[in-house]
Amino acid sequence: MVIEQVRPGYRIPRQLNSLEQRDMTPEGLRIENVDEAREDRFHRFKLIGWWDQERLRNARVLVVGAGALGNEIVKNLALLGVGNLFVIDLDAIEHSNLSRSVMFRARDEGRPKAEVVAEAARDIYPEMNVQWCQGNVVYDLGLGVYRWADVVLGGLDNREARLAINRAAFKLNRPWIDGAIERLDGVARVFSPGGPCYECTMSKEDWKLLEMRRSCALLTRDQMLMGKVATTPTSASIIAAIQVQEAVKLLHDLDSLCGKGYHFFGLTHDSYVAEYTRKEECYSHDKFDRVLSLGKGASQTQLRALLSHVRAELGADTVLEFNNDILTALKCRQCATAETVFRSLGKVSEREGRCPACGQAREPETTSTIYGDERYLDLTFHELGVPLFDIITARSGSDRWHIEFSGDRREVLGPLCPGPCA
Ligand SMILES: [Zn+2]
Ligand SMILES: [Zn+2]
Repeated sequence: MVIEQVRPGYRIPRQLNSLEQRDMTPEGLRIENVDEAREDRFHRFKLIGWWDQERLRNARVLVVGAGALGNEIVKNLALLGVGNLFVIDLDAIEHSNLSRSVMFRARDEGRPKAEVVAEAARDIYPEMNVQWCQGNVVYDLGLGVYRWADVVLGGLDNREARLAINRAAFKLNRPWIDGAIERLDGVARVFSPGGPCYECTMSKEDWKLLEMRRSCALLTRDQMLMGKVATTPTSASIIAAIQVQEAVKLLHDLDSLCGKGYHFFGLTHDSYVAEYTRKEECYSHDKFDRVLSLGKGASQTQLRALLSHVRAELGADTVLEFNNDILTALKCRQCATAETVFRSLGKVSEREGRCPACGQAREPETTSTIYGDERYLDLTFHELGVPLFDIITARSGSDRWHIEFSGDRREVLGPLCPGPCA
C-alpha cells in the first residue's frame, strides 16, 4: 500500500530553497525557478487575464467589524493573498458567534474577535501583515488608519458606525464597501469619493433610528446590545464575497459597483443592482485636501503647544477641530455638581453617566473645537480623548490644515510598519 505519494507541489519549493542557498547557481535560473515556486499558490488567479497578484500583495485593507461578515471578508482577503490588513472590532467572542463565524472555535470564547480573526488570517496566508485593534470604530480609530488604507470594508450592524466610516473614508479620499445582512438577505454597496455616499442613501427612517441611538449620548454601548439582528453564515458568505470581489476590482482600477448597491434576496435568490444619487447638500462630502504629518503622537503633544504653533503660522484666530465630540465634564443638575471627565463621548457607560450622589443621569459637557481659553490646555490630545494616530484640523477662516499625529504610526500600525508603512 502506497500512502506516501508525496505531491510534487510540496517537494519543489524545498529543492528550490536549497538551490537558492547555493551561491554557485546561475543567477537567471535561480530567480526564475524561485518565482515560479513562490507564486504557485496564486497560479489559478493569474489565469485571469487582468489579474495582478502584486497589487493584492501590496494592498492595504482596513476591515471594520470582525463578526459574521468580517470573518468571511478576512477569510477571502487572506485566500486572495492581500498583503496588509488592519482589523478592528469592539467585541469578544460569544458562544452564539460560533454558528456564523468561519474563523472562530469554541476555545476562542472570550477572546477579542479582532485578535482571533487576525491570527486566523495569518494561518491561511502567513505572508500577510496583520494588525488588530479591539476598539470602537467611531471613537477609537484614528483617521491615520484610513489614510494608510487603500480601501475600507465594513461588516457592521449599525448606522452610527457606518456613518462614521463614511465620513472618515470620504475625508481621506478612500473608497469603502459596506455590507449588511438580515435573515437570508443582504446588500453590498460601494461608495467612492466624488460619487454618492452612504449618507446620501439614508432615508428619513434611517435618520430617525440613528437619532434615537444618539439621543442617549452616554448609552450607545448599552443600546447597541439591544439591536440584535437575525443573520446566517450563508448570507454573510454571499455578501462578504461580493464585497471582497468589489475590493479586488477597485484595487485593479476596474469598473466596480461604485455608487451602487447589490441587493440579494435569499428566499428566491433574486437580486438587483440599485443606483444611488449624490446629494450635494450631504454633510459627508468634506474632503481633507492635504494632510500634514506631525512627527509626534497624540500622547506626546499638548493642546497649548500645537495651538501656539499653528497660530504662529495661520493666524491668532486659529482654532483646532476634532472629528468627534469629546466629553469634558458630567454635570448633575439636582446636586449642582460637575465632575471633570476627559474621554470620547461614546466611551462612557450609562452607569458612569449617573450621579454617584443622587443616581440621576448627568448631562455631558462636550467639545469638538479648541478656542484657546480652555482650562485643560496643558493636557495632551490623547489625555483629552483624541485617538492615537488621529488627524485633527487647524482652521483660520477658510484656511485649513489637517494634521496627522504621525508619531503614533508605529504603535497603531504595529506589524504593518515599517515595511509597507513608510
Ligand atoms: Zn453623501
Ligand atoms: Zn446628583
